[in-house]
Amino acid sequence: MSALDGQDAQELQVVAVRAHRHRAPLLRPFVTAARRTEAVEYVVAEVELAGGATGQGSAAETVAVTGESADSIAASLAGPLREAILGRRGTITELSRRITGAVPGATSAKAALEVALHDAWARRAGRPLVELLGGRLEDTLLNDMTISLEDPAVMAGHARAARERGEQILKIKLGHDITEDRERLAAVVEAAPGARLRLDANQGWTPEQAVEIIAGFEADALPIDLVEQPVAAADLAGLARVRAAVSLPIMADESVWDAEDARRLVDAGACDLLNIKLAKTGGLRGALEIAEVARTAGIECMLGAMMEPRISITAAAHLAVAHPAITMIDLDPPAWFASGLPRGGYAQDGPRLRLTGGPGLGLEPMPALADAADGGDR
Ligand SMILES: [Mg+2]
Repeated sequence: MSALDGQDAQELQVVAVRAHRHRAPLLRPFVTAARRTEAVEYVVAEVELAGGATGQGSAAETVAVTGESADSIAASLAGPLREAILGRRGTITELSRRITGAVPGATSAKAALEVALHDAWARRAGRPLVELLGGRLEDTLLNDMTISLEDPAVMAGHARAARERGEQILKIKLGHDITEDRERLAAVVEAAPGARLRLDANQGWTPEQAVEIIAGFEADALPIDLVEQPVAAADLAGLARVRAAVSLPIMADESVWDAEDARRLVDAGACDLLNIKLAKTGGLRGALEIAEVARTAGIECMLGAMMEPRISITAAAHLAVAHPAITMIDLDPPAWFASGLPRGGYAQDGPRLRLTGGPGLGLEPMPALADAADGGDR
């Protein structure tokens, strides 16, 4: 059972599907064990329903994670995904299934279109999406701030600045070399006293390295709340070995793309926590399925994101606020973007994120700009 069951009274008709490209420079490079990004290429998907309600979703290029480039996202949206719903009548569930089943993979492109469909649906109903997902607009969540994988002194500087801005939870990117990773973390801890830390190795350690470095952090009693994806995504046995050998909670991220992955991880005893991202699940429905697996298993989830634009992050925030198994968010990407567009959706009072209401995602529509290829959304 999910909150979306029983929401299928109305038949919708999709009368237009559009997509437009954007390029958004970042304020500083975003660096992980898997990639380095200085500007984000992304695609905005638009769905228009009969009666005029229009919704938007977005997908960013993340070749290193989903295998999708901005070109492939645009091609999926202009081809099989558009064909799957354009001119179709159906309930929100039926139309969502058509997107999911249109083509294998292409999870970011599917997420963009599926979110656009849900935004249009909620706008048509005149309600915030969070409420249609079974949640309450007024509930809030504590956000974190990511510190890229850089030299220790650079990471320390970013961590200090984040603390001075009032951030309470820092997500520290590690996973390069365990000797250097220790130096990185030591520099961050010294520079950001009082911060709670989430570590993310992005698959960068072997199980043996992971156990060694995490056990050391535990022995030093560092203020760490969780360790995300210490080892390779496919190495469930390795993940389970790490989890058994240390006390800090282990979170799966790259290992979990859908509900079946989540069940496998739970059955293998491979993690304590799950990181859900719409760009992996292909949208809200797949994400809800994972959250339901987690709820059944008594596991808590984080709602995370790729280095994605504000539309994607707002959709993730609606879902995170709505679902009781999602207790943590890692939704800081908009703080990295030079542009604050589109306006609306959510606001942060310090690190605490709250939805601002309005129909659908509550965002102003993002215009298609003729000069988008030149950084049109700055
Ligand atoms: Mg991660």
